[in-house]
Amino acid sequence: MLYKSTRGSNEGFSFEQAVIKGIADDGGLFVPDEFPVLCERDFDTFGEASYKECAASIINRFIPSFNNGEIRDCVFAAYGENFDSQDIAPLKRVCSGVYCLELWHGPTAAFKDMALQLTPRLLVTSMKKQKLSKDIAILVATSGDTGKAALEGFRDIEKTKIMVLYPEDGVSEVQKRQMITQEGSNVSVVAVKGNFDDAQTAVKGLFADKELAKKASSLGYTFSSANSINWGRLLPQIVYYVRTCAKLRTSGILTEGKKAVFVVPTGNFGNILACYYAKRMGAPIGKIVCASNENNILTDFINTGVYDRNREFYKTLSPSMDILISSNLERLLYELCGRDCKKVSGWMNDLKATGRYEVDSDTLKALQEIFIAGSIDDAQTQKVIKSVWKKDAYLTDTHTAVAFGVYEKQKKNLSPDDTIIIVSTASPYKFAKSVLSAVSDDDVSDIGEFEALSALSEKTKTAVPFPLLCLEDKAVLHEKLCSVSELPQVVLDFLKN
Ligand SMILES: *Cc1c(COP(=O)(O)O)cnc(C)c1O
Repeated sequence: MLYKSTRGSNEGFSFEQAVIKGIADDGGLFVPDEFPVLCERDFDTFGEASYKECAASIINRFIPSFNNGEIRDCVFAAYGENFDSQDIAPLKRVCSGVYCLELWHGPTAAFKDMALQLTPRLLVTSMKKQKLSKDIAILVATSGDTGKAALEGFRDIEKTKIMVLYPEDGVSEVQKRQMITQEGSNVSVVAVKGNFDDAQTAVKGLFADKELAKKASSLGYTFSSANSINWGRLLPQIVYYVRTCAKLRTSGILTEGKKAVFVVPTGNFGNILACYYAKRMGAPIGKIVCASNENNILTDFINTGVYDRNREFYKTLSPSMDILISSNLERLLYELCGRDCKKVSGWMNDLKATGRYEVDSDTLKALQEIFIAGSIDDAQTQKVIKSVWKKDAYLTDTHTAVAFGVYEKQKKNLSPDDTIIIVSTASPYKFAKSVLSAVSDDDVSDIGEFEALSALSEKTKTAVPFPLLCLEDKAVLHEKLCSVSELPQVVLDFLKN
């Protein structure tokens, strides 16, 4: 199996090359040139197997150049004691015909762990097999969840160092505390003066700084990002879709000819794209529902074929979905338009030049055959949290609530025979204040973020997940604050140590 660029020539790359490069030279994203097709027997096996066994088997088919031992080493180290559920991605019944797939039992209590616990291991194995002489220094700007998940993923991974930059005034108290208490011998966390845009621009500047690259190279490092467009981050996400379908089949819930419908709270289109790939591989998936918050650019796109980012940007209660450029959509378009690189390049050029593109009617038809979309606003999100809690005694975070809300709105367009799986991307405790305020009848606006954790636990008689427990008492290990202009030196000092 080879990997090709969505925008480019016929040149093929190995998995190792695609993961190390991250993005193709022509600006396109790496995609596999074929999808392994799963057979009946695979589904029977996966329905009984552990998460790790499934992951090893599925991932193996996309990385023919890794031997069995290499894959298993990566997978078994990624999904172990660091998850607080034996099942890794447990499926919970919410009500008749509706299930919730919980992807937040990893070390940071949000779904980014599902990929980021494995990606660094795939990367390092690739580096070794390619006999890369340099180590990799990961630089990440974060507005919240990604930074912490990347830190946990790369911590103590040989041949790598990771530095996460967060805006001094741009992350929540809990998020900040999660990062500045980060342990690990190869990690650094630095507050940057300014807001998230300043931090993001600063990191882009660091990547473009030739002088810095040269100095880093003489210290034995090349820079890389832990970006969600890396194929190594997408691949691990296919596993839970395939396995969920297999488990539903084995338990007799998904009978012959019936389909699973996944409702996915979407931002950068990575998670939902993995669902599409699982469908392509033969998983019994029907419609895929794309759920958005007020930043409903994807809803408009799926309904009209016009992608237009010239619109207002809203800060919502589901911040990890506050995105106007869903990078991974490019990979879907590539498949839907018949892998026509010229078309894809054209749309992406339009997007860059005008902030807008429109797909042709065949592509739109192919899109609408599989995807349906919807969005809800913050007020509705809070109502949904409350009603799902009251009605089904299921506590959901703000992102997952968007999926529940969109499912309610789209129910009429689905078959009553479908089994519904709401994809849950964060523990309710990750966004405790919003969730508490939604389920409380009283005004809770005075409660602090840490207090909200215990207040929510008391109110709902549910447990605070392990990674968020005792956060306040953990030792602060990273206190550096610097201005953008000081960053290159701060990076070099970190690489020297
Ligand atoms: C990242 C994230 C999402 C969006 O996932 P994409 O793959 O970017 O679509 C949704 N919910 C939470 C909690 C996230 O952290």
